[in-house]
Amino acid sequence: MKYISTRGHAAKAEFCDILLGGLAPDGGLYLPQAYPRIGRAELDAWRHLSYAELAFQILTRFVSDIPAPDLREMCARTYNSKVYRYARPGDDPAQITPLRWLERGKLGLLALSNGPTLAFKDMAMQLLGNLFEYVLARRDETINILGATSGDTGSAAEYAMRGKARVKVFMLSPAGKMSAFQRAQMYALADENIFNIAVTGMFDEAQDIVKAVFNDADFKAQHHIGAVNSINWARVAAQIVYYFKGYFAATASNDEMVAFCVPSGNFGNICAGHIARCMGLPIARLILATNENDVLDEFFRTGIYRPRTAAETHVTTSPSMDIAKASNFERFIFDLLDRDPQKVAGLWREIDAGRPFDLAKTPYFARVPEFGFISGTSSHVGRLAMIKQIHEQYGVMIDPHTADGVKVALEHADGLPAGVPLVVLETAQPAKFAATIREALARDPDIPDDLRDLENMPQRVEVMAPQPSAVKDFIAARD
Ligand SMILES: *Cc1c(COP(=O)(O)O)cnc(C)c1O
Repeated sequence: MKYISTRGHAAKAEFCDILLGGLAPDGGLYLPQAYPRIGRAELDAWRHLSYAELAFQILTRFVSDIPAPDLREMCARTYNSKVYRYARPGDDPAQITPLRWLERGKLGLLALSNGPTLAFKDMAMQLLGNLFEYVLARRDETINILGATSGDTGSAAEYAMRGKARVKVFMLSPAGKMSAFQRAQMYALADENIFNIAVTGMFDEAQDIVKAVFNDADFKAQHHIGAVNSINWARVAAQIVYYFKGYFAATASNDEMVAFCVPSGNFGNICAGHIARCMGLPIARLILATNENDVLDEFFRTGIYRPRTAAETHVTTSPSMDIAKASNFERFIFDLLDRDPQKVAGLWREIDAGRPFDLAKTPYFARVPEFGFISGTSSHVGRLAMIKQIHEQYGVMIDPHTADGVKVALEHADGLPAGVPLVVLETAQPAKFAATIREALARDPDIPDDLRDLENMPQRVEVMAPQPSAVKDFIAARD
């Protein structure tokens, strides 16, 4: 399996070559030269596999430069109920991503948040930690991971990399913009290879710093800077697995279809769903849900992609979706534009110059339905109402991001083909967002026993103005 850039850079790379890097040299994102097609016989053979074995079967299609026994061992070490140990009462922890029906056969939640940081990002990040360790040892290299987080990526990365030899993590977060629990998850880690930097600005400003450092080729090479943010291809690849697992859990045979609704920000999660569908998984619809930061919903409704500035980004009660420029979106647009890298490069010249692009009057936009996409948006009021409604109706507590997903999913339920179950991806546990849960339900969320004291632990964080030079100096002093 060879990888190409969405902007046409010529040199084709292997999986391990792009694992440790970020953007392609031409500023594009890596994608497989062609998606593997999964036939009916394979789907039938995969239906009853364990999560770890399914992950191996899928990932081995994308990874041709790690021997199969090693990859299988890493999948087994990653996808087990010791790592994903926070399954909720009534859910089967052995499933790793258990499906919880609210209405049997009709409406379900796919629990992706049973990992160490209680959010779906652990699904890919825990594997990434093991892949990094493996590849760095094989090459006798070290890496300084630089990332930006709006909440959940940072803690997931830190829990995946903590204590790993050859790896240091420098994680930027927007100062004061995450929940108290999210801050505690990151800032309370005492491992010596973990560095938290709180930037006095919005998430997008933190992300722009990361991009600026990556664009400094000398600094990047000298300090072995690597990425684990959502543009990392291995993360997208690992996320493909739970669409298959969720499909098998929601259906009795491979003749059936499923609709997935995905609470979205950077388009990473749903991009994996798009690829699963391109591989041949019978997905009827991919329903994209945004919060008040509705850049992606606007595109799917109008054909106009208009990233917002940091100043135009709303601070919401589903903070992990407070994203105004969806870093993975280029991957979908590449496919939508018949994989024409010149066209993609042209569109992103506009985006990088701060201008929108408009596909409405092109034949490409008319083809969006062929890719299964529809979208909708949620807001604080809708989010609270949904948390309350699902709790009252089904006795199930959902987090604010999942609530955005359920709200948008239910709005589209009537338009689905008859008999197609609607599966909402549960992207976090309510324990992470106590203030919003209290506002909706006038009670505290349930918190796993061993995490109850987290917010009282000592915290370690460096506060900084949003300037690339300050971040570079900080890294250089600790490399
Ligand atoms: C990261 C995150 C999202 C958004 O996922 P993307 O891959 O950025 O679209 C949604 N919900 C939660 C809880 C998250 O942590």
